Amino acid sequence: MDDLRELFELTAAIAADFYETLPDRPVYPRASVAELQAALSAPLPEHGLPARTVIAELAAAVDPGLVAEASGRYFGFVVGGALPASIAADWLTSTWDQNAGLFVLGPSASIVEQAAGAWLIELLGLPRHASFGFVTGAQMANFTALAAARHHVLAHAGWDVERDGLQGAPKIRVVVGAKRHGTIDRALRMLGLGAPTDIVPVDAEGRMLAGELRIGDEPTIVCAQAGEVNTGASDPFHAIADARDVAPNAWVHVDGAFGLWAAATDSLRHHVDGADRADSWSTDAHKWLNVPYDSGLVFTAHPDSHSAAFSARAAYLIVDDEKREQLDWNPEHSRRARGFTVYAAIRALGRTGIAELVERTCAHARTFAARLEVMGAEVLNTVELNQVLFRFTDDARTEAALAAVQAGGEAWMSGTVWDGRPAIRISVSNWQTSDDDVERTLAAFRELAPA
Ligand SMILES: *Cc1c(COP(=O)(O)O)cnc(C)c1O
Repeated sequence: MDDLRELFELTAAIAADFYETLPDRPVYPRASVAELQAALSAPLPEHGLPARTVIAELAAAVDPGLVAEASGRYFGFVVGGALPASIAADWLTSTWDQNAGLFVLGPSASIVEQAAGAWLIELLGLPRHASFGFVTGAQMANFTALAAARHHVLAHAGWDVERDGLQGAPKIRVVVGAKRHGTIDRALRMLGLGAPTDIVPVDAEGRMLAGELRIGDEPTIVCAQAGEVNTGASDPFHAIADARDVAPNAWVHVDGAFGLWAAATDSLRHHVDGADRADSWSTDAHKWLNVPYDSGLVFTAHPDSHSAAFSARAAYLIVDDEKREQLDWNPEHSRRARGFTVYAAIRALGRTGIAELVERTCAHARTFAARLEVMGAEVLNTVELNQVLFRFTDDARTEAALAAVQAGGEAWMSGTVWDGRPAIRISVSNWQTSDDDVERTLAAFRELAPA
């Protein structure tokens, strides 16, 4: 027991040391691939080592190759950070090691998910009766929601897809926006629905043009989006839901990996107005809610279709309708008890704290946009949420500025191609980002990308 306590104390100290170095360490690591390989690649060990040695050596060897995604000056992709309560809950999740596939394997894990699920439905303004599942990320949330959609529209067409598969099934028309996230295509591929061909054109911010959307009589799934990854823009949900309402057999899915969190605020909710009218939703807890990876969430307005797609009751599984059996709502069987971290994050912030986190990060994004324009940058999106897309007038300057800031280590953000030309995107989604972090990042641009 003493050894175990020492190991856990050592681990907590390494974690605290890591956080203490965040203000000073380069946001992007400088170690080369060869250096990391030299420190970590070795012949298969023949004999074991004490756990404390393993952890001390592992932490020392990986440190030079860690990206400081936990830093308030990491603005790449849309990654969020991890709230202290949520990190601690994550450690305990590993310690408790509950298998969250079935109630019998962990009553508390199941009940925490029920509690957190109810909180999330209220926070995100979804229908009270919505079903939910705790998955790895928005990729699997999209997959899960679209599996429920596939069941639903085929059942309406008189086809049992769980029993008979897709061979000989009525054709499903899948409608997507031109600026959908790539995980929609991967989800459709895994579901045997192939690559989407029915692509609705979008406006300059990546929003579906509602006038171009047609839903006919055939079984149809529309994949809409809350929060385009470059611009933060959301599709016109009311128009999409209106079109669905007059169609005989259509389902609307909303990929809201980060954008759906606008619904948790009073000041930004209008950007996702009408999203609650959809049939299913995906979002991430590991982005804007600042829960550690991996944590995604799926919701549907049709619990029967959701569970029909996943329920896998074998004889040995203990079934009791009073208790939530998580595998009825998830593609996984055995899995991590993901509810604990989400529960801890929501409990630590409360409804007002979550709204404040979302609003504060959006305010930082607006500061970035205004100050970058003063520096001669062209901001390419309307900064509705937390995403800032910009470039300098000269493409070479855009590329040089991004490379210099990335290499300088003061901050990190990703590049992208927008309208065929290089652009830089800043995503503010970490609870840690402070006014000082914004100033330090702007100073890096001023110094490294002078006009
Ligand atoms: C990040 C993101 C995804 C994918 O989410 P993962 O958590 O990486 O699986 C899907 N859609 C949108 C709009 C995203 O921003």
